[in-house]
Amino acid sequence: MSVTIEKTEILGWLREENPARLKELWQRADEIRRSRVGDAVHLRGLVEISNFCSRQCAYCGLRVGNENLARYRMDLNEILEAAQQAVSFGYGTVVLQGGEDYGIATLWMAEIIRRIKGETPLAVTLSLGERPDKDLAAWRKAGADRYLLRFETSDPNLFEEIHPPLGRRKFDRLAILRRLRGLGFEVGSGIMVGIPGQTYASVANDIALFRELDLDMIGIGPFIPHPGTPLGNGLRFFPSVNGEQVPNTELMVYKAVALTRLVRPDANIPATSALATINKANGRELGLQRGANVFMPNLTPLKYRHLYQIYPNKACIAETGDACNGCLSLRIKGLGRHIGRGQGGRKDRDLFAPERGSVSRSIPQTQSGTMIPGGFELTRPLRVTVPISDERSRRSILNPFSSHA
Ligand code: SAH
Repeated sequence: MSVTIEKTEILGWLREENPARLKELWQRADEIRRSRVGDAVHLRGLVEISNFCSRQCAYCGLRVGNENLARYRMDLNEILEAAQQAVSFGYGTVVLQGGEDYGIATLWMAEIIRRIKGETPLAVTLSLGERPDKDLAAWRKAGADRYLLRFETSDPNLFEEIHPPLGRRKFDRLAILRRLRGLGFEVGSGIMVGIPGQTYASVANDIALFRELDLDMIGIGPFIPHPGTPLGNGLRFFPSVNGEQVPNTELMVYKAVALTRLVRPDANIPATSALATINKANGRELGLQRGANVFMPNLTPLKYRHLYQIYPNKACIAETGDACNGCLSLRIKGLGRHIGRGQGGRKDRDLFAPERGSVSRSIPQTQSGTMIPGGFELTRPLRVTVPISDERSRRSILNPFSSHA
């Protein structure tokens, strides 16, 4: 029996509107999440270190063309302080994110990474855009553990439309993800849901690609229009996709998150801040109940927080790290879950993965070559390891769609 969920089935679920059927999807995602990554919710302290950006992404408010945004770059001491705050809250990871800011010099960043690794027990995750290989290698050497780079959409035409190249330099985010893996990073990627011009079929391709890339972390959030961008100012015309446009709704994000848990059972999947932004009351909770196992509380100093405007009306814009931390603990306990300790990386989990009494199955590859020019070389075999004692979840993983006609 194949573990592969056919793309047509993924597509069927993305179009599913019946609440009773969807409940079945939420339950399966939640069961697989519990059996594969447990009830711990890992917290990653997010520090938005710079809002300078050299790129012109049509979706993002940090784009260099947005002149109505005051720019900032945190200094070394501010970043180290934020990292110490992560330690004091008991977080295992700090995520240093920013625009693609070449004012962030290779050696300066390497020094910050070295200091954090030398002075704290934190895992360091970077999310600094499409930096050249030499920067990525230097930062890995300095001790960075993980790198996040969303491919945003697997539709190459749409991606090119919304993500113009930097000068004549053309980048292939999938190739960068492959190189990051080669450098020894844990690798994260993800998408926005509801980008103008994005179809249901293309989101189904994105989810199938998550499986193929064997990603360690997968972030999925709704596209939120920003008025200072071509995709948010209503001026740019995008070709119609004939009723196939995928909506940027909360419900669609939950479907994508749940399906992602089914295709990548042991990945770290956050309930994203963008999801919390479109449902401030309980978007995070619902995300965590429908496949997610990670949350990224914001540790950016308050004086900068409102300036990291990738999209408007961000959640938790005015809460201190302290307030955020207290609120999250309550929300997580309210779900009957607990806060994860330690770094919470996929590698940590692999160390404890059951070796005996397990079945391992190779997942047949899907056809990435038809979807992505150049394709993606797998760097490790795709395997799903399922404890045989957990018969119910074993069955649902091996054939998660058995009752879905
Ligand atoms: N410069 C880095 C970090 C960008 S911000 C990079 O390019 O990787 C991190 C993520 O925010 C992006 O990858 C994108 O998926 C998301 N994002 C940007 N603009 C957004 C918008 N308008 N709505 C929703 N998500 C957005």
